[in-house]
Amino acid sequence: MQARLGSLWPPLLILLYLGVICLPLLLSWGAAMAPRSFRNDIASGLGLLAFAMILAEFVLSGRFRSGSGGLGLDITIRFHQLMARTALAFAVLHPFMYRWLPGPHRPWDPTRQLTLTTDFSELVTGILAFLLLPGFVILSMKHDDLDYRYEIWRLVHGLGALLIAGLLLHHALNAGRYSADPVMVWMWGAMTAVAGFSLFAVYCLKPAYQVMHRWRVAAIDRLTPHQWAVTITPDGHSGVPYKAGQFVWLNIGHVPFSLAENPFSISSAPSGGPDLSFLIKEAGDFTSQLDQIEAGEKAYIDGPHGTLTVAGRHEPGIALIAGGVGVAPLLGILRECHLTDDPRQRVLVYGNRTEDQIVCREETEAFARSGKTRVIHVLREPGADWRGQRGVVDADLIERVFDQSQFETWLFVLCGPPKMMTSVEELLTSKGVAAPRILSERFQYD
Ligand SMILES: Cc1cc2nc3c(=O)[nH]c(=O)nc-3n(C[C@H](O)[C@H](O)[C@H](O)COP(=O)(O)OP(=O)(O)OC[C@H]3O[C@@H](n4cnc5c(N)ncnc54)[C@H](O)[C@@H]3O)c2cc1C
Repeated sequence: MQARLGSLWPPLLILLYLGVICLPLLLSWGAAMAPRSFRNDIASGLGLLAFAMILAEFVLSGRFRSGSGGLGLDITIRFHQLMARTALAFAVLHPFMYRWLPGPHRPWDPTRQLTLTTDFSELVTGILAFLLLPGFVILSMKHDDLDYRYEIWRLVHGLGALLIAGLLLHHALNAGRYSADPVMVWMWGAMTAVAGFSLFAVYCLKPAYQVMHRWRVAAIDRLTPHQWAVTITPDGHSGVPYKAGQFVWLNIGHVPFSLAENPFSISSAPSGGPDLSFLIKEAGDFTSQLDQIEAGEKAYIDGPHGTLTVAGRHEPGIALIAGGVGVAPLLGILRECHLTDDPRQRVLVYGNRTEDQIVCREETEAFARSGKTRVIHVLREPGADWRGQRGVVDADLIERVFDQSQFETWLFVLCGPPKMMTSVEELLTSKGVAAPRILSERFQYD
């Protein structure tokens, strides 16, 4: 029953999304105003759609489990990005589609059937939003190439989106023909309030909850030259329920309201107790300063999030395919399978550049010795005495490791660098692995 509800959730969310963004169009249509040229109605429709889509972006940020929990963070963020670009295209077209009959309101045209406003005070906010929006979207697409801290980008992204939504609200209510209708005024007010509240929830309510559910660093160890194991323990509470493979936003050493939090997969197993462990690779500001963190330091989490989990699945086998630190959530899954004596067969394919980058080798090899788990190490730069696979984890390697019956029946769980993910996903699709049997998570979004 729960699985059936789970599979209904994504189509329901998509229907809900379509309902929300089409609501302004439906209400405008229902307002039964005097008809006007088709072209001008298309122009207004594009504006209405763009504004509704921009407001919906606030709740598609991946920070709400009701959304990303059903679709997965990967899909939610990709959808967020795609819809932002689509909304931008609609917004850019919106003013150019109108056939102008400019000038002030004429007494003989009270519903603006024939004229469009040229009142600067009504248009100025629309013009400002029109100028800001392309820059905002391009900045978001390129933020990884720019040389400033991720937290700064997050702040600019949130405040910029709020500013643009405010400008668009003013423009819609003052210059819009359909949006002047009282029902539409209420609808835009409610939608903008939900958008604003979603930021308030992420940046105020969640941190306030975190203050009351604090954690502490229990252990921090360097496992390889650039990878660390961090374990946190609940401080005065019983921890959080989670499924192996999920992730949390983790904040160590900063107050919860500071924006300094990063997503990390949980590499421990729920059956192992309430402590949460993470495998963290040095990448930037926070992760390169792990050596300064000490046991006992305060930590806060937002989560668990994510759908990279095999709980409740009934496939006879699980293929766990990892590149580098992408092994973190898969370790959590393997550990849980081991602790619960899970009857499913599993194969871990784990790629690294060099042998000293392999983490938890003894533990995974102990899993292999106890049956049911096979571990295949792949090295791009192996030493002369390396006996495992050579090369990279790609379509060729996966095709050699798994047979057709496994492609037809097993669950495939992927986490690693984008190139590996794309190559393996394409192979799996070409081998007829149905989309619901491929679970993947990306640590970085282009
Ligand atoms: C779902 C998910 C699970 C992840 N799990 C792991 C893991 O188990 N182990 C691991 O080592 N890494 C994991 N990562 C990647 C990890 O979040 C980044 O490497 C880390 O945040 C870098 O932070 P920094 O401050 O050191 O570097 P920065 O220089 O601040 O960031 C480097 C890059 O990391 C990404 N990043 C930073 N902060 C965030 C944020 N708050 N939200 C989203 N992306 C961010 C951005 O792409 C940024 O450009 C995961 C990422 C995601 C999205």
